Amino acid sequence: MNDQVYIHFLGTGASVPSLKRGLPAAVIMKDQTGILLDCGEGTQLKLLQAGISAAKIRYIVLSHLHGDHLFGLPGFLTSQQMFQRIHPLTLYAPVGIRSFMDCLMQITGFNPTFPFELVELPADESGSLNFNQFDISYRPLDHKSPCLGYHFKEHNKPGKFDAERAEQLGIPHGPERSRLHNGEAVELEDGRIIEPEQVVESPIPGRTISYCTDTRPCDATVELARGSQILIHDATFTEMHKDRAFPTGHSTAVQAAMIAKNANVEKLYLWHLSMRLDKQGEEQSLSEARSVFPESFIAQDLDSICLNRPQ
Ligand SMILES: [Zn+2]
Ligand SMILES: [Zn+2]
Repeated sequence: MNDQVYIHFLGTGASVPSLKRGLPAAVIMKDQTGILLDCGEGTQLKLLQAGISAAKIRYIVLSHLHGDHLFGLPGFLTSQQMFQRIHPLTLYAPVGIRSFMDCLMQITGFNPTFPFELVELPADESGSLNFNQFDISYRPLDHKSPCLGYHFKEHNKPGKFDAERAEQLGIPHGPERSRLHNGEAVELEDGRIIEPEQVVESPIPGRTISYCTDTRPCDATVELARGSQILIHDATFTEMHKDRAFPTGHSTAVQAAMIAKNANVEKLYLWHLSMRLDKQGEEQSLSEARSVFPESFIAQDLDSICLNRPQ
């Protein structure tokens, strides 16, 4: 098992696809298990281009049910059925997704034979989820449609086991040692209780990623993203079109950077960029964000980031 977490950006644009930017989708990948964040139209093609097998997607998490984040889902699911997927797949999305799926099944005849679970999340409440290797918290954002922002926190890795110390304490080789390594206290035959801290170094913290789109700037994103290594945030507009941000329920690059700064994240990735941004517009967006938060970057389709564990 390797100890790496990647974020693969698949589609980084807003509303309609362009040759340069597909519609929103990204994958968090750990140990060959993927979490797909949003599933805009064209996500299947982007997965192919990125060399990521769709079979590795174990979870799909949708921010909201606007078409640009959702319309890749029917194709993705239908292809999985055609490929006779056997691996389980769980879909999390705000309330309304069940009606969408019912409609899809009724009209297209899609009827998964692979283990498929659908979980509707009330989009006006905060909550938490637990995936294989991640704890997830979510909060309602401020968009035109009920929308959830997500924070992914990889489980901590147990600290190093001090075998020498274990010998000194007379801890037998066997299950006692693995229980201690996993954070449990154990009682030895002579009645002594050994606490994990006596033989295990401090746990190594897990990686943290926040995904907040689509949204106006709001306190919920600051709370969700606080201290994250990576914040992926709506940055649909530059200052030139900032008057369009509020009425459409989006943020500017500067507003995204303010959130990143207030949440004290390590890096901000500007996301959900308007198709009207050409190369010059992108440079403008980036320099506006960096004037507020220097560790800002523009997410580009098919870019991958490898995250180190926080120090
Ligand atoms: Zn959108
Ligand atoms: Zn939207």
